[in-house]
Amino acid sequence: MPDYKLLIGGRLVDGDDVMGIINPATEEVLAFCPRASAGQLDAAIMAAKEAFPAWARTPIAERRAMILALADCMEIHAESLARLLTQEQGKPLSEATAEIAYSIAFIRQLATHDLPVQVLEDNDSRRVELHRRPLGVVGAIIPWNFPVLIVAFKLPFALLAGNTLLIKPAPTTPLSTLRMGEMMAGIFPPGVINIITDQNDLGARLTTHPDVAKISFTGSTETGRKVMAGAAASIKRLTLELGGNDAAIVLPDADPVKAASGIFGGAFMNAGQVCLAIKRVYAHADIYDALCVELARIAEEAVVDDGLKQGAQIGPLQNRAQYDKVRALLETARSDGTIIAGGEVLDRPGYFIRPTIVRDISDGARLVDEEQFGPILPIIRYDDPDDALARANASDMGLGGSIWSSDRDVAHDLAMRMEAGTVWINKHLDFGPTVPFGGAKQSGLGVEFAEEGFHEFTQIHVINEAKG
Ligand code: NAD
Repeated sequence: MPDYKLLIGGRLVDGDDVMGIINPATEEVLAFCPRASAGQLDAAIMAAKEAFPAWARTPIAERRAMILALADCMEIHAESLARLLTQEQGKPLSEATAEIAYSIAFIRQLATHDLPVQVLEDNDSRRVELHRRPLGVVGAIIPWNFPVLIVAFKLPFALLAGNTLLIKPAPTTPLSTLRMGEMMAGIFPPGVINIITDQNDLGARLTTHPDVAKISFTGSTETGRKVMAGAAASIKRLTLELGGNDAAIVLPDADPVKAASGIFGGAFMNAGQVCLAIKRVYAHADIYDALCVELARIAEEAVVDDGLKQGAQIGPLQNRAQYDKVRALLETARSDGTIIAGGEVLDRPGYFIRPTIVRDISDGARLVDEEQFGPILPIIRYDDPDDALARANASDMGLGGSIWSSDRDVAHDLAMRMEAGTVWINKHLDFGPTVPFGGAKQSGLGVEFAEEGFHEFTQIHVINEAKG
């Protein structure tokens, strides 16, 4: 019997089926885990629906205390959670440890929010109050790149606002979420949080279910479209955090050594499997060669290994499908550009690809136009910054982007014209719970974090009273 349980209606239960979870660093089965049936999904939604009225009436201070208790419990188990995360996801233990620490910090910060009544008008003729009410059952759909952190993005606001929750982790990374489920079972009233696992087969049922009021989805743009279509029948509220193809534009006055170091970190964290990683670099002709040389040097020095090994900097790709997709892109890069670092897989079990730098490549190549979501970075040469910006903007995606320059005014001007939810200057990948985060264009819909993100888990409720 699996060592992991689903959480349905406050009870830790077996799934109607079982599935093996692969360690991507060894390709061996790491653990067996429950796989829920459609009936179990329905039972979890029903439990969340039944728990909703009492949870919505629970004072926000009590809801907050339970959310904070979860963060405390995660802190106690941080070491074992991080180890499990590395084993199921692949990322180096240092990154997994940071993911758990960030998750705890996110939960604690997001839980500080409140929902005060706003008095919009109070005069002789009328008093208008703006209240915010919970929506009902929220479905949180999680991808495999940050299985714990993305739960921490969604859970605090969903629950603090008075909603109940159903969490569905990705099929290849459910274990750390299920461990958190054991903690949740001891903290929250039955049905307030439920966890269901699947093999990519229950998402559609969840997003079309009439008793689910909102879907908060993080994943690919392709699946996001399906979620949006599924939500239409009952006009569900939606937050979609989708794919990206973030461009970094490097101006001729940037320091190539500093820029290369920042760009490498922004592109290769989690083996490039980050929604807002740098996925293409536009470098001015005057700095192009120096930047390429420096990026190649860093890439060649990077230690690629099992994330549990001391000193590992880049782990395997998370799953076989992603590994195959990235290897196919690597093959296209051989003819579309010049590989100056990496370019090969490791000759051992595990989905390892060495960090790869590709130069002499341009727009129109698949590696530039598509989201690689892996450790391969194309460097594109340009002569005119406005042209580079136009090429960066000529994408359906618009999650993030960055400008690298020693001239703050020029960088700021370009940043203002970049079509993305977040644009960084001389850095990339800096985000936090107090800064709203959301994608432009097909990178998403709605916002996470900060006040704006909290409001997405609520429904406005206006009380408008005649006076005089
Ligand atoms: P995915 O879209 O394949 O899967 C995401 C989740 O959706 C999984 O839990 C999956 O089981 C579920 N799912 C699959 N089919 C579904 C359906 N028909 N209806 C509802 N849910 C369904 O994405 P992935 O491969 O797990 O993650 C990689 C992608 O996610 C990349 O494109 C990346 O850029 C994006 N991503 C975006 C962000 C962000 O915040 N913008 C963060 C992380 C990842």
